[in-house]
Amino acid sequence: MAKIKVLDTTLRDGEQTPGVSLTVEKKVEIAQALDRLGVDVIEAGAAITSEGEREGIKKIAGLGLNAEISSFARILKNDIDLAMGCDVDSIFLVAPTSDLHIKYKLGITREELLDKVSESVEYCKSHGLLVDLCCEDGSRTDTRFLNEVLKAVEKKIDRFTIADTVGISTPEKIAEMFSKIKTKKPLGVHCHDDMGLATANTISAVRAGAGVVDVTINGLGERAGNAPLEEVIMALKLGYAIESNIKTCLITATSELVEKLCNISVQPNKAIVGDNAFTHEAGIHVDGILKNPKTYESIDPRLVGARRRFVLGKHAGIKAVKKILEDMQIVVTENEISEIFNRVKFIGDKGKKVTSADIETIANSVKGVETKKALKLVELVAIAGNKFTPVASVKLLINGNEVIQSGTGDGPVDAALSAIRNATKDVPFELMEYHVDAVSGGTDALVRIEVKLKSRGKIVTAQGSGSDIVLASVDAMINGLNTIMK
Ligand code: MN
Repeated sequence: MAKIKVLDTTLRDGEQTPGVSLTVEKKVEIAQALDRLGVDVIEAGAAITSEGEREGIKKIAGLGLNAEISSFARILKNDIDLAMGCDVDSIFLVAPTSDLHIKYKLGITREELLDKVSESVEYCKSHGLLVDLCCEDGSRTDTRFLNEVLKAVEKKIDRFTIADTVGISTPEKIAEMFSKIKTKKPLGVHCHDDMGLATANTISAVRAGAGVVDVTINGLGERAGNAPLEEVIMALKLGYAIESNIKTCLITATSELVEKLCNISVQPNKAIVGDNAFTHEAGIHVDGILKNPKTYESIDPRLVGARRRFVLGKHAGIKAVKKILEDMQIVVTENEISEIFNRVKFIGDKGKKVTSADIETIANSVKGVETKKALKLVELVAIAGNKFTPVASVKLLINGNEVIQSGTGDGPVDAALSAIRNATKDVPFELMEYHVDAVSGGTDALVRIEVKLKSRGKIVTAQGSGSDIVLASVDAMINGLNTIMK
């Protein structure tokens, strides 16, 4: 079987995710990551959108990437002209083909639509562009008419894509449709996830003849999103032995980059790229994994550049604790193991989770070992009020070297944490969660801060506590960073 081609539309359909708006620099960074990942076509944006969008597409087109660079355009001369002005290789030419769209959106007839499609294709080709003709709302288009559209321009276009624009198709329906589209030109499929079927529909279309899959990283996209690259690629590979040019070991890193730059968190239980996708907690599962990972792990995490993670909580078993300590090369006595196990269960019973990184801290505390820490707080000043921007400065010892940095923020905590971030610029990490619990009443209440940090696929949770919320937050952050920097 020939390899499947991948058109990634994170930078166009993905950017249409509510709340996402990427700067030129961020678009470029994502395009470079997609190219490294091995996607065949990068739909870099819709040139008609704005001046900034055109600047981004033009910059991406000028990077000399391996991928074909494409811009979205409607069947309008102005859209195509603006896309051409960005020096793209190809046009993702979108023509609504359902009667609903032709009548209500465009207010024309099928014949008029066919003329417009032919003219637009002709215009693109006369300027030397590759054309991917995409039938918008294709899944609600009569298949005979899809074939009419195809026949009208088949000789000129380079790809023919059918879009399930509103995510209403099902695996059987989409397979039937694709099996009735006969062409020697590459056939693309573009699915949305309104019913949670985008991945299944995409795969079904591939099985029925599609050779190009339109996807986005993390399934970003309009409404419920598009078919996620990570799911489609892994399901095709593992379920059907259908390969692509995607370097699967870069999937996790690419997902994390898009998560960070688009500022849309991936749900923890998301397939392949969610934080819990390769995390095991229950004692029975951990015990099985330790005997043979295949018992509870259908996908080897290394295949997608992820790491297996054990979370110890109230479901933990003593065997798992023992094995984790062994793997971390922490030597403990039987008595110490049962004490560590008791502390894990105690924390777990309070509804909290203990990561494998936290285990080390517990073990050291049980063993009474003073660990060497990379980061030490020497001084902290934070000032806030209603007449100026909150500001903070910190003096840290980083591996014995004194570093002084300042930061501003929405409040004193934010300013202090940004000062720490500025002082630790060389450590790549992301603050994923920040929680405050007031342990007692009153304004002098003891507060407990919990932070969750992520660094190169490793997730660390750490705590800080005290009656000063700024200091407690800084402590939590430094505790987390010390685990990361180990
Ligand atoms: Mn779409």
